[in-house]
Amino acid sequence: MRMNTPAVVNPRVRVIPAKVETGRNDANPDGEKKKIAVYARVSTFEEEQQSSQELQESYFKEMIAKNENWELYKVYADHGVTGTNTKNRTAFNQMIEDAKEGKFDLIITKSISRFARNTLDCLTYVRMLKGLTKPVGILFDREKIFTLDNHSSTLLTVISSLAEEESKSISANVCWGVTKRFSQGIPHIPTTYFLGYDEDEEGNLIINEEEAKTVRRIYKELLSGKGTVVIAKELTRDKVKTARGNTKWTSDSVLKLLRNEKYAGHALCQKSVTLDPLTHKRVRNKKHKPQYFIRNHHPPIIPEEDWNEAQKELDRRSKMLHDPGGKYRSAYSGRAPFSNMLFCGVCGMPIIRRRITSKNKGEKYYFTAWHCRVASQKIKADFTCSAKYIWEEVLEEAFLELLTEMKKEKEQIRIEGEKVIEEVNLTKEENKRLQELEGIIDRVSKQINEMSLRESIMKDPIYDATLRNLIYEAQIFQQEYENLLSNQDESMYLRKQLDQLLEYLDGPIEVAAIKDIVESGILHENYEIEFTFKCGVKRTAYGRPRGKQKDK
Ligand SMILES: [Zn+2]
Repeated sequence: MRMNTPAVVNPRVRVIPAKVETGRNDANPDGEKKKIAVYARVSTFEEEQQSSQELQESYFKEMIAKNENWELYKVYADHGVTGTNTKNRTAFNQMIEDAKEGKFDLIITKSISRFARNTLDCLTYVRMLKGLTKPVGILFDREKIFTLDNHSSTLLTVISSLAEEESKSISANVCWGVTKRFSQGIPHIPTTYFLGYDEDEEGNLIINEEEAKTVRRIYKELLSGKGTVVIAKELTRDKVKTARGNTKWTSDSVLKLLRNEKYAGHALCQKSVTLDPLTHKRVRNKKHKPQYFIRNHHPPIIPEEDWNEAQKELDRRSKMLHDPGGKYRSAYSGRAPFSNMLFCGVCGMPIIRRRITSKNKGEKYYFTAWHCRVASQKIKADFTCSAKYIWEEVLEEAFLELLTEMKKEKEQIRIEGEKVIEEVNLTKEENKRLQELEGIIDRVSKQINEMSLRESIMKDPIYDATLRNLIYEAQIFQQEYENLLSNQDESMYLRKQLDQLLEYLDGPIEVAAIKDIVESGILHENYEIEFTFKCGVKRTAYGRPRGKQKDK
């Protein structure tokens, strides 16, 4: 049986789902009433204005009376203290002692700022009370935080992050500005050095058609197989202007442009996040897992599907170029069909193209072969590899043979492809969660909006911090949401690739197609080549030890 707190009458703050549980029902199977402690604190200043103490007390007494599973244990009240020093908080200290002795089950208090002098202090008490043999939860009424509920680890993280911010004593004004912008859903994006967009009078991003042409060209060329080095070279050659107005392009600037999510119409805020103020451990964001991501923030220059495909292509190439140790990096060259596509089955390093000179009965001849980078000794490595090379001709032949075979078993390929997609597809629960998260994010955002409109609260730095805490919470939900969405994207990508492969198998086959349909391949010692197609389906091609053809 779940026990919910009664709805709180406070028209100005939107209440987060009435999901506050005490989590203590198991410990009280007999349905015994929970003993509730109330902590109230009022400043001298407030007492002059109104009888705030009495108001707080009666408010909570009423709240407790409304819940048939609750009974008031005691009201602990501190008067006229600033709260910056626990020494003067006699009632507070008494309450903590009573909690340790298990005299009550739950503390209700108006807000974090009433309860503790700062959030770090608050966190310490939250943890301590939670860790008691008979855990005591705290319900912060204004913030709608219950420290023992299912999300409490998230909430503790949130509180932790605030505590650190406080310890860094960031100016409340600065934070307030950020909050305000967040509440309007508009991170400000400067366009001065941002190719493709201008800003209108209201600060909205609008497409600059002239510059957008360059952006489109770069994405198109990447997807047609060109590397960033070549793209940069050609842009420089054609005297195409950069965002800064010059005509010097580097592969780095091209890459940055290709990785910029803003071209798909999205905006990304806050790239890193702090998890624990006590250890000061900072957790960096993974590159495609933004903390806070606003979809469809402005008009896109690159359709989302193309943008996603470009990211995949970049990922694939960078995987190719970075060997396991990450030591040997080279520029991507898209010239030969198998380049940046094959890996050594012996040591895992990329397979490269080589011109090899050999002799047969005293006569010199040349041929092209594909060979492990380490085995061919083209790079210095701290290990050796014994892999043999394969003739290009043999490789091409084996690949074409494979495609010819695949033409005959399209139905089987479809079945296998569907299986792969099914694995990535969201489960029923995940789909449900995705929808649930949409609702949660919506609600939290609305709450942030409403709270941030309460200007009088600006006087209260802890309340301000609470607002930031809500924002942080929104970000965490947003992150979970984005992770699920990216799985959904992945399944859409695989579906598209499967359709493309099947369509391709209907037409004439050629080696050049490899770039469109194959993700990667592993060349084994027995000359078998294990191909993974972009749709996730795997097939093995069979090569031979040596070729027969003789050049010149
Ligand atoms: Zn090797």
